[in-house]
Amino acid sequence: MADTKYIFVTGGVVSSLGKGIIAASLGKLLQARGYSVTIQKFDPYINVDPGTLNPYEHGECYVTVDGHEADLDLGHYERFLNVPTTRANNVTTGRIYQSVIEKERKGDYLGKTVQVVPHITDEIKRNVKLLGSKNKFDFVITEIGGTVGDIESLPFIESMRQLKWELGKNCICVHLTYVPYIAAAKEYKTKPTQHSVKQLQELGIQPDILVLRTERRLSRDLLRKVALFCNVAEEAVVQSIDVPTIYEVPLVLQEQKMDETVLKKMGLEVGPTPEMKAWKEFLHRKAQATETVKIGIVGKYVELQDAYKSIDESLLQAAIYNDRTLELRMIHSEKLTEANVIEQLGDLDGIVIAPGFGQRGIEGKFTAIKYARENNKPCLGICLGMQCMVIEFARNVLGLEGANSTEMETNTPYKVIDLMEEQKNVTNMGGSMRLGAYDCVLKKGSKAYKAYKKENIQERHRHRFEFNSQYRDQFEAGGMLCTGENPETNLVEVVEMPALNWFVGVQFHPEYSSTVVSPNPLFVSFVKAAIDNKTN
Ligand code: GLN
Repeated sequence: MADTKYIFVTGGVVSSLGKGIIAASLGKLLQARGYSVTIQKFDPYINVDPGTLNPYEHGECYVTVDGHEADLDLGHYERFLNVPTTRANNVTTGRIYQSVIEKERKGDYLGKTVQVVPHITDEIKRNVKLLGSKNKFDFVITEIGGTVGDIESLPFIESMRQLKWELGKNCICVHLTYVPYIAAAKEYKTKPTQHSVKQLQELGIQPDILVLRTERRLSRDLLRKVALFCNVAEEAVVQSIDVPTIYEVPLVLQEQKMDETVLKKMGLEVGPTPEMKAWKEFLHRKAQATETVKIGIVGKYVELQDAYKSIDESLLQAAIYNDRTLELRMIHSEKLTEANVIEQLGDLDGIVIAPGFGQRGIEGKFTAIKYARENNKPCLGICLGMQCMVIEFARNVLGLEGANSTEMETNTPYKVIDLMEEQKNVTNMGGSMRLGAYDCVLKKGSKAYKAYKKENIQERHRHRFEFNSQYRDQFEAGGMLCTGENPETNLVEVVEMPALNWFVGVQFHPEYSSTVVSPNPLFVSFVKAAIDNKTN
C-alpha cells in the first residue's frame, strides 16, 4: 500500500466503554484482509509511563518485548493482532513533554518560545507518524485515552485535527459513545452521543464513524437519527452490543461492515469478506466446551477487575484450547490463612500465585503454596509468585527458618531471593527494573521444556529481585530444581518440583505473550495439569 492510513479512536460520554477493544477489533478485521496493522495508545496523564502507577490507579502494567512498561490496552492489541507492540505503541503526555523539554534544553528550538501549539502537538504528530513511516504499517490505529472534553486530552485532539487536515482521506476518526437505557421511560437515549459529537465538532473534528455502546440492540430508526444529528453516513453508525466475551466484538463489527466502511472512506478497494477461520474456531471451541476447570488466582489486588488482566485472559485462552470453560476464583492473599485454606482452595483444580511487590499479602501466598505443595495441586507461580515458592520451600522443606526475599526483609538470615547485582545502585524508580524479553534455556525433560517443546525460549520480565544462586545446590538436593536459566547471566528463570504433578515457578511473565491464536504453552500445560488433577 502506498500511504499509511491513520485511524484515531476517541471516546465520549463516559470512560470505560472499551475503546481498546474496539480499536483491537477493527485492527483485527483489517489485518484479516491482509493489511499490516499496529495500534498505539496515547495516555493523557503526566506520568512518563504507567510503570510507577499502582494497580488501584491503572490496573495491570503491561510489558512490551522491548521493555516498555505500558498501558494494559497494549495487551488487548497483542492478544487480538498476535503482533508484538513496542515502546512506540504507548505514549503519555509526560513522555511528550519530557522529549520537548529535553530538546528545549539542548537549544533545538533556536530561541523560540516553546508552546503547546505547535511544539507539543508536533511532538504528538511525530509519534503518530513514527509507526507509519519507519515501520511501514498499512494502518496505524491510535487510541486516545480518556474522554473527549477532558482538559488533559486537548493537545491530542488538536493534533488529530491537524493530521486530519494534512492527511485528508488517509486519516479518519472513529468515535465511541454510549447510548443509555432509561428504565422508567423504557427508552434508549441518544442525547449524550449528540452532545459528545458536538464537543468534537467544536474542537474542529467531524467523526467519520460512530460506534454506539449499548446493552441491547438499537433500532434502525435510532441509528438513523444519530446519523442525521451527527453528520455521519447511516452505514457509518455501528452499534456495539454487550457480548459474553470481548473476542466476539470483531464479529459484531464485521456483521455491520465496519471494516468495509473504513476502507471505502479511505479510498481502498473492499474485496471479499475475510473468513476469520482461526478466530471463529477459537470462539467455536469456547461455545462447545461444557466441562469446567476451576482455577484460583492468589493475589492482593483481587478486588480490582483489571489488576491481573493478562493472567485472566491467558487462563481463559488456555482453558478454551483444553476444551474447558474457565471458572476463575480470585483469592485475597491477605485473607488467606491456615484456618481457611481448605475452604478457599480445596475445590480448585489449579492455583496461580500472582506477581506483585512488597510485603502486604505475602503470608497468604506462602499458605497457598504450602497447601498446593503438600496436596499435589497444580500450581503456577509468576514472578513474585515464583519467588514466594522459593521462600516457602526454603522455610518449610529445607528448614531455613526466617528465609526471605531482601525485598521484604533486608536482614533476613537466608537471602534466598536477593536484589539483582545491576539493581544495587538504582535510585530512580521509573523504567529501571529488569524489563522486556530475555532468553531462557530450559532443561530437557523438565515440565517447562515439555510445555514449550523447545529449549530456547524468550519471555518478558519485570522485576528487581532474583533467585540467589548460592542456594542452588541446596535447593536441587532438596527437590526443587532450577530448570530454566538465562544463558548470559545464569539468572534462574524457572524452578519446579519434579516430585509433584505440576509445580512450576517462573521469574518471567508468560501471560504477556499469550494471544487468541497463539496461547502461551506454559498456561496451556498448567491448565491441562489442572484438568488431569481433577479427573484423577
Ligand atoms: N517484587 C518482585 C521483584 O521486583 C517481583 C516483581 C513482580 O512480581 N513483577 O523482583
